[in-house]
Amino acid sequence: MSTPRLEINLKKISHNLKTLIAFYGAKDISISAVTKVVCGNVAIAQLLVEGGITILADSRIDNLKKMSAAGLRCQFLLLGPPMLSETEMIVKHADISLNSEILVIRKLSESALEQGSIHKIILMVEYGDLREGIMPDDLENITDQVLQLKGIELIGIGTNLACFGGVHPDQEKMGLLSDLATGIEKKFNVHLQLISGGNSANYRWLTNINDSGRVNNLRIGESIFLGCETLKRERIPGLFTDAFTLVSEVTELKSKPSMPYGEMGQNAFGEITEFDDNGVGARAILGMGRQDVLCSGLSPEMKITILGGSSDHMIINPRQSGLKVGSEVRFNLNYAALLSAMTSPYVTKVNT
Ligand SMILES: *Cc1c(COP(=O)(O)O)cnc(C)c1O
Repeated sequence: MSTPRLEINLKKISHNLKTLIAFYGAKDISISAVTKVVCGNVAIAQLLVEGGITILADSRIDNLKKMSAAGLRCQFLLLGPPMLSETEMIVKHADISLNSEILVIRKLSESALEQGSIHKIILMVEYGDLREGIMPDDLENITDQVLQLKGIELIGIGTNLACFGGVHPDQEKMGLLSDLATGIEKKFNVHLQLISGGNSANYRWLTNINDSGRVNNLRIGESIFLGCETLKRERIPGLFTDAFTLVSEVTELKSKPSMPYGEMGQNAFGEITEFDDNGVGARAILGMGRQDVLCSGLSPEMKITILGGSSDHMIINPRQSGLKVGSEVRFNLNYAALLSAMTSPYVTKVNT
């Protein structure tokens, strides 16, 4: 089979999903599955829906389009904040979007009216991570304006932590979100169906508590695909961390010095690299590089050392692995590596 290839073990993903649905379900929390790291891969989306997911979430309209063209029976959610210039497409291809800008929501309302549809929104609230979100004190005012818009249905509020700032979703932050939801409902006499408290980073908070307050939904990507929570990247008990494997091929294997020789300057990427002199030893080249994957996010399954990568090559120390020219070398991937390999058109995706 050709390399580089990304082997996708659908059974392991299904298992992870099932385990997470049971864990969160026991705490009355539903999961919206976030497909952006797998670029809206249709086979994966299909198994998520078959596994009981009713909302598929992605940050790209193209991915939502691809998944809905596959005829999946679920709602599609666009992670935000959405672009002002894309409201027409958003209303067409997303049932729900996460929002924090009234200007964009007004335009979503206009687009919904033009298309004769109702677009659902979740208002995102800032709790310190400093990516998207309305400041909590401004939420009433924005809600007041949103409720007057035709073509828009406010279905909930949410927050996103541990993404940009690495701020933990803890009992205090989740309590504030719950109180805010209850306050908005009282003030405007509305019901908020979805209180979407976060992402894979919320796992630890929920292992410690039994009452999650008003939080009844999480948007989960990484835990389903890579089997870990995201505060410390620890494996969640019972989940597979190796549902994805990247396979490459040895294209050169020789004994060479470990120090480059000759007059030295920048490498192909404008970097000045430093080397340790370990004498002469085995070195191998793999036919896979930065156009295929973020090399720093790979962990080899066998005992070899990654020395670096250029556009289309990776240099490794094969150590005692017994590799030969033509041997396949298998790697586990972290989130960033998975994102890059899924995105690269040069990496063949194979379902196993
Ligand atoms: C990517 C994303 C998620 C999913 O995060 P994971 O760490 O993969 O669970 C959830 N919410 C928003 C807004 C996102 O952008």
